[in-house]
Amino acid sequence: MTARRKTWLAALLAVTTALCVLIAAVPRNRPEPRASVSTASHDQPVLSNTSQAKRADEWTDPLGATPIDGLTVTVFPRIHLIGRLGPSAAYAIETSAGIVLVDSGLEDDARMLKAEMARLNLDWKQIRAILLTHVHGDHCGGAETLRAATGAAVYAGREDAPILKAGAPHEAFFSIYEMPGHAPHPTTVDIELGGDERLDFGEVQIEVLGTPGHTPGSICYLMVRDSVRVLFSGDVIQNLGEKPLGTYTAYLAPRFRGDAETYLATLQKLRNLPVPDLVLPGHPGANRGPTSPNLSSEEWHEMLDRGIREMQELAERHALDRAGFLDEQTWREK
Ligand SMILES: [Zn+2]
Repeated sequence: MTARRKTWLAALLAVTTALCVLIAAVPRNRPEPRASVSTASHDQPVLSNTSQAKRADEWTDPLGATPIDGLTVTVFPRIHLIGRLGPSAAYAIETSAGIVLVDSGLEDDARMLKAEMARLNLDWKQIRAILLTHVHGDHCGGAETLRAATGAAVYAGREDAPILKAGAPHEAFFSIYEMPGHAPHPTTVDIELGGDERLDFGEVQIEVLGTPGHTPGSICYLMVRDSVRVLFSGDVIQNLGEKPLGTYTAYLAPRFRGDAETYLATLQKLRNLPVPDLVLPGHPGANRGPTSPNLSSEEWHEMLDRGIREMQELAERHALDRAGFLDEQTWREK
């Protein structure tokens, strides 16, 4: 072999090695869309080919919504996430008819909710309606206090209303989770929702969607303003992370009130809706970091389809062995 040929081969080897290193360094899986929201504090995804470049266009949130986690933030003009109510969040919607609150947090005295609203210069005394997504204590604990102090009307699903009004039993409020220092108490329900109503608050329309499964009276609220459709999903979709759905109750004994068959129908119902522009879940603190609530249609459908498959499987098992598997150990081992 000539010296010239050796040099050429060495150069070729070096280029090949460099290419291998580069190829190995390029991510094979698509980067998490979570990190690609259009804020300066989040890195843009690494692009490795044309199809990912296309995806990157979709990742850029055309609405400019703020990424959400468990902290208080204005998500979108006049829509605020009230965080640190642990473990759930509430949402405050400013309307020309006053503030509409979706859920009320865990604390009976709503102290943290009031303080977090003040951080956004929102006056909690302007709350005119409290839309409860379901009976679990971390979502409804402060409703009675706020109702008494503001005159706001409390709305809740018809199937959860008797339990809210009775303030019992304990497991209907706290499921399998211990929340020391917090006990169920009666909550006045002014308006019981069957699941197909339309609520008007000034310029805001809210469609009530009966979405049982997490609890029998679970409600999702679909708000429309200026053609932007915002889904407040409670615990039906409880976060935008790895395990987004609140299906855990469907694995538990009936006294915990979850149900696979109705959850399945709920997910199919959501699947048939036009994709919401924003999805605001009950537990954004469980996101894997700040996450854009503006899901792509692909993300929305993948999330629901995974849940549909999961609930189909659970419903089948349920039908075969209703008495035998409904215990929390099954879910914990999953
Ligand atoms: Zn819940």
